Amino acid sequence: MKDLKYVDHNKVVMNPELSAVSTEDSSTYNHICRILVITSGKGGVGKTTATANLGMSIARLGYRVALIDSDIGLRNLDLLLGLENRILYTAIDVLEAGCRLDQALIRDKRWKNLSLLSISKNRQRYNVTRNNMDNLMKSIASLGYHFILIDCPAGIDVGFINAISPAQEALIVTTPEITAIRDADRVAGLLEANGIYNTKLLVNRVRTDMVKRNDMLSVPDVQEMLGIPLLGVIPEDHNVIIATNKGEPLVLNKKLTLSGIAFENAARRLIGKQDFFIDLTTPYKGILQKVKHFLFGIV
Ligand code: ADP
Ligand code: MG
Repeated sequence: MKDLKYVDHNKVVMNPELSAVSTEDSSTYNHICRILVITSGKGGVGKTTATANLGMSIARLGYRVALIDSDIGLRNLDLLLGLENRILYTAIDVLEAGCRLDQALIRDKRWKNLSLLSISKNRQRYNVTRNNMDNLMKSIASLGYHFILIDCPAGIDVGFINAISPAQEALIVTTPEITAIRDADRVAGLLEANGIYNTKLLVNRVRTDMVKRNDMLSVPDVQEMLGIPLLGVIPEDHNVIIATNKGEPLVLNKKLTLSGIAFENAARRLIGKQDFFIDLTTPYKGILQKVKHFLFGIV
């Protein structure tokens, strides 16, 4: 695992590319924390699945990652990670001074550099404010995390506004369906209106058989419609449902399925290890060649 050393965990720099978000004096910072919101507008397109798998992959690459379930009243990221029985405290307890932040940050047993913070318990109606979210994320960043991934609730109301408030970057998840794409487009506009310009696209549940029959939009079609740089393409895969029911993100499977490989590739691109455009034009070898062919060659 990557050596994680900090001079002082209380000094942190927000992503310098988007330093407008940072209110602190950057000269006092000595590590970078990227705060991303994973959003879509439409529900059920794969935000929570993407948050769990990308977060787990980035943690396995050696980074300290905090995953935030920002859904008030309908959380489910804990289930995908198999951490539902370990949550005693939520962010709301932290805000009400009922516990310390580290007590509400649940560490994954498999990868201890991955933590989960749920904003609220199920059925809890208490709402947080943008200020609350900003301060919580600053506090988490100051604990030495490299990445904070915020799983955004569906819709574009107050839950969405709160979830995007501390983010410097966004990942928009969509399926190749016209309804999801329209919502993704709307969300992209709202992100820009809120000062988030660094946005990438994840196209989920792609079925190449349907694309071939012209029954589904292709990835280039989706990308053209949205005009957002592509981070990754995830195929439709029944193993996603098996993994959800087991509470084990599928990137942990010993034998990775195509969607697991696709999530891992997207995670590597997210940390800047792999350039997507090289993927499209440079022939891969071995399994990567097959993935490229499957995902892009015939799409
Ligand atoms: P959201 O958080 O956007 O509401 P979820 O991540 O909860 O969406 O996913 C919604 C449903 O779609 C879940 O049942 C999940 O298992 C399923 N799903 C997500 N991605 C895929 C995929 N690539 N292949 C098959 N099923 C998927
Ligand atoms: Mg969700």
